[in-house]
Amino acid sequence: KLSKRLETVANFIPKDAIVADIGSDHAYLPCYAVLNGIAKSAIVGEITEGPFQSSKKQVQKSELADSVIVRKGDGLEVLRKGEVTCITIAGMGGALIHKILEEGKEKLEGVVRLILQPNINASVIRSWLLENEWQLIAEEILEEDDKIYEILVADRGDPKIPYHETSLDAGLLFGPFLMKDQQNPFKKKWLQECEHWKTIVEKLNQAANTPENNRKRNELIHQIELAKEVLK
Ligand code: SAM
Repeated sequence: KLSKRLETVANFIPKDAIVADIGSDHAYLPCYAVLNGIAKSAIVGEITEGPFQSSKKQVQKSELADSVIVRKGDGLEVLRKGEVTCITIAGMGGALIHKILEEGKEKLEGVVRLILQPNINASVIRSWLLENEWQLIAEEILEEDDKIYEILVADRGDPKIPYHETSLDAGLLFGPFLMKDQQNPFKKKWLQECEHWKTIVEKLNQAANTPENNRKRNELIHQIELAKEVLK
């Protein structure tokens, strides 16, 4: 059975998509999507030998060798232009997902949907989407095994639309859809983050008065203020 996190990602794959799952680890997500008639076929990308081998085993075990291809390589380099219609990248930090998208930009031709699940730092992905003409169309937040996960879904379109009703600062940090919904995991996540930011501010107050410390301190104070405005 797929985790709630990956099942939520799978549910955003458009019907009959040709999907690439980059950094797949075990190919659970693409196998599930094909077996359940969501995706037509899939390409699995893995940079590391162990996960590459477990992905191949999983595909064999699921008897999907005809519809799920496993390739070894860095990010989107495993894809040819126009080969897939949807890309999923899950379970990594936002900075790594950002790097994979930025370095693989020319491979996005023909792709109509991105489903991204950063474990941390979703804001760098929202900024990238905004700068690259990808319109955030949905966001989910969920708690599983004591961790809180965010899922970002984007199609090609006007990237500014989701931020029309929020301040850009707050929208990029908290997510325009998530801050509107204010579900329990959302509140829990940002209350925890705020406590964490406050302890760092305390430490910076005690620390040397350097430009870098001041910059960091002001940024955190700004974020705490934003969170106070956003959390209802
Ligand atoms: N996507 C799966 C999930 O959400 O459960 C697996 C997440 S796992 C923590 C991250 C995987 O990404 C690892 O198997 C790692 O080898 C792979 N990975 C990291 N950087 C990568 C890159 N640049 N290109 C392809 N795979 C990468």
